Amino acid sequence: MTQIPEFKNYIAGEWVRSSSGATFENRNPADRNEVIGMFQKSTAKDAEEAIAAAREAYSSWRLLPAPRRAEILFRVGEILIKRKEEFAQQMTREMGKVINETRGDVQEAIDMSFFTAGEGRRLYGHTTPAELPNKFAMSVRMPLGVCSLITPWNFPMAIPSWKLIPALVCGNTVVIKPASDTPLSCYNLVKACEEAGIPPGVVNFVTGSGSELGTSLMTHPDVKLVSFTGSTAIGTTVSTACAPGFKHCNLEMGGKNVILVMEDAHLDLAVEGAIWGGFGTSGQRCTAASRVVVHKKVYKEFVDKFAARTRSLRIGNGLDPHVEMGPVVSASQLRTVESYVEIGKKEGAKLVTGGRRLESGEYARGYFHEPTIFGDVSHKMRVAQEEIFGPVVSVIPADHFEHAIEIGNDVPYGLSAAIYTQDVNRAFMAMRDMYTGIFYVNASTIGAEVHLPFGGTKQTGNGHREAGIQALDIFSEWKAIYVDYSGKLQKAQIDHD
Ligand code: NAP
Repeated sequence: MTQIPEFKNYIAGEWVRSSSGATFENRNPADRNEVIGMFQKSTAKDAEEAIAAAREAYSSWRLLPAPRRAEILFRVGEILIKRKEEFAQQMTREMGKVINETRGDVQEAIDMSFFTAGEGRRLYGHTTPAELPNKFAMSVRMPLGVCSLITPWNFPMAIPSWKLIPALVCGNTVVIKPASDTPLSCYNLVKACEEAGIPPGVVNFVTGSGSELGTSLMTHPDVKLVSFTGSTAIGTTVSTACAPGFKHCNLEMGGKNVILVMEDAHLDLAVEGAIWGGFGTSGQRCTAASRVVVHKKVYKEFVDKFAARTRSLRIGNGLDPHVEMGPVVSASQLRTVESYVEIGKKEGAKLVTGGRRLESGEYARGYFHEPTIFGDVSHKMRVAQEEIFGPVVSVIPADHFEHAIEIGNDVPYGLSAAIYTQDVNRAFMAMRDMYTGIFYVNASTIGAEVHLPFGGTKQTGNGHREAGIQALDIFSEWKAIYVDYSGKLQKAQIDHD
């Protein structure tokens, strides 16, 4: 029998057990018999120790020149390149998405390391003329202090990197708590930080349940910023917890993304976009295309082609390079998917294909569900309004372009949208009128690149953008500085004539 490895917390540069002495299992969703490792079931005390370590380390990390901080972060990227395949395989085992996608997840962390470490030699502020003579004015970015980073399971290395790398380049120190379904990929990122030479206490890692650790991570007086990605329901809890202490708080939450297919679209391309957007990562991407709004003139042809291609998808263990869709992440996610399939049927949507859990043969030990399409969906149905976060796509007919835009916008979320059309005028109108943080023309709703801002409108976010240079606005704050070298008292606005 092989020994099950135990993974520890990382606090003040030491790998330590939780004060609870307890651990929890990380199992493979494609094969529940496989235990990937035991992780620390941390307590509030562990979180507080991690925050204390981060606070202690902040005083020297913030004073290390940003280009020097960046040199260490470039090394993180180099380590991830060397270990990309190993980390991708481990990620497929811990969360189920297919190996090509987990390679992409690690690649995103690599891209984020290199792009954002480059900011260490920029972190540009502004100089500007002062209104009074012999006076100098500038604004500079300052770090905040200790940041709590709380991350979800669907991009288990990429999303931690989106937070950790910009936080560190700006001079903050962090405590990161990964989702309990996928602690290993975040552990691998933290290990890379240790190996790259990030000093003790700058990065701290605690595993365990969000409800147990959340209060300390969100309300401790030494925490200055909470950066959260996850569901809108938990995001509301985070926002509420941060408010009394006036903590900075950036929230990246749910989505109900849409592809608009016009009558002049290249239909085969649109079908491929709907397959990739709807069933990539088993529909468990925040940017997943869970709605496709199709012009009535091409509706039947689109649905027939989409259904045929969906039926041909190979489902199985994501480590097999021929598999196109893996399991969903957990039993509770599978139950959610099954319950929405029932809701869709009861609401009168037409089940075009799929609709069942896969339980026999190779699927028996995992959380597999058929890729599922509902047709003739009315946009007010729950399956067209609520985030399912699984392989279920609702196809909604539209009378004309403006109708498609109206349906597309009529959801509580605003992360990503796409249009397939050959008409440049409509493409530009859709770019302008779809109220989302991300928009694609003739491409699916997924495919964000790290040097562009990422985030959403409405209940998807609270106005911030991760990635790009915009992420720096989350992890730093502006200080305006005036230097008066006139040798006399000068009064702004008053010494005017
Ligand atoms: P989740 O259930 O909201 O969990 C996210 C994180 O919050 C996990 O680390 C979780 O810990 C923690 N948490 C749970 N309860 C908490 C509490 N009371 N206080 C503080 N933290 C708490 O979300 P998920 O199921 O992991 O991820 C799926 C969701 O993320 C979807 O809604 C998806 O749209 C969204 N998402 C959004 C984006 C974006 O950029 N907009 C990107 C990716 C995913 P435990 O795991 O221990 O419960």
